Amino acid sequence: MIERYFDNAATTPVDPRVREEMLPFLGEAFGNANSLHEPGRRARAAVELARERVARLLGAEDPSQIVFVSGATEANNWILNAFPKAAISPFEHSSLFDTARALGRAVLPNEGLKLLGPPWPVDLVSVMAVNNEIGARWDASKHRHPGASLHSDITQAAGKLPVSVAPLDFASLSGHKFHGPKGIGALYSRESPPPPMLLGGEQEGGFRAGTLNVPAIVGMGAAAQIALDEMDNDLQTAQACRAAVLGALEGCTEMRVNGGESPSPYILSLSFRGVVGETLVIEADQAGFAISSGAACSSRSTEPSHVMTALGIEPDWLKGTVRISFGRYNKESSSSELGLSLRRSVERLRAMRAS
Ligand code: PMP
Repeated sequence: MIERYFDNAATTPVDPRVREEMLPFLGEAFGNANSLHEPGRRARAAVELARERVARLLGAEDPSQIVFVSGATEANNWILNAFPKAAISPFEHSSLFDTARALGRAVLPNEGLKLLGPPWPVDLVSVMAVNNEIGARWDASKHRHPGASLHSDITQAAGKLPVSVAPLDFASLSGHKFHGPKGIGALYSRESPPPPMLLGGEQEGGFRAGTLNVPAIVGMGAAAQIALDEMDNDLQTAQACRAAVLGALEGCTEMRVNGGESPSPYILSLSFRGVVGETLVIEADQAGFAISSGAACSSRSTEPSHVMTALGIEPDWLKGTVRISFGRYNKESSSSELGLSLRRSVERLRAMRAS
């Protein structure tokens, strides 16, 4: 049941209104957006409308600042490839963190959630808006470094929280985090996009080769429009659901809420000391709830994530961490039920350990 799906930071269900807008482009409106004939022109018009809608969602000045890519992963790789002296925060998603390591880019030092430096010369600083594991937030504009460009991975903020790209030079996002389809995203560039990473076609002004995925682009545009129109409602839903889970857990001992002072209301990261997060995820699944242990991207691995490592979370808290993430279709009632279910699991598992 969709209201028991609490893993919206991993991906969100496609809004039926988005699906409706996409369907013609999987059928009769199949044209290649770069073709000159009528089917091509119809596809092109739909792509340009989507570009306008995404630009509006982000508060961009002009739709031409948006280049469609396959997702935030590609946008993040593109950026790091273009800036040899980039420095990223230690809390970035693995599409930046692992890429930075592979390419020999630097990682900023930190004290808890506070970012330090960089004390060395850099050509780009990258600081995410909302962390996908714990929901912590940063204002990237506070990390502008003299002489360096500023990039922010806004994947967990776009379409959920009010976002303005005005103080940024570049931003990455994915459509499927705000009820659009998977495999589509965008890179915002205030001035020119970086030199292309994918060559071999004229698409996207020559900055990103490859036949445009028109149905997905249309879907991302529709999702952006709905997200902008309904942001207050969606935000209220997330806040109410978060409060309902926490309300059901009130008084639960040895429990911590991660994510700092003012985490995104959409992501609730909880650590229960002495319990194994994966066991909670499995028990929640048996009760019909979808939640995640840490980041879905790394939840198939048993290694502590680089985010938790950078925060220096103690092992017995680390192991008992789960992520509950909210979306448009969650309800306060299903959120309370999830909180109660978690509470029962935690109490039972602790009692078993004690006996
Ligand atoms: N950045 C962040 C913050 C994310 O949460 C994700 C998705 N988990 C990505 C980048 C990558 O997005 P995608 O898999 O759609 O490329």
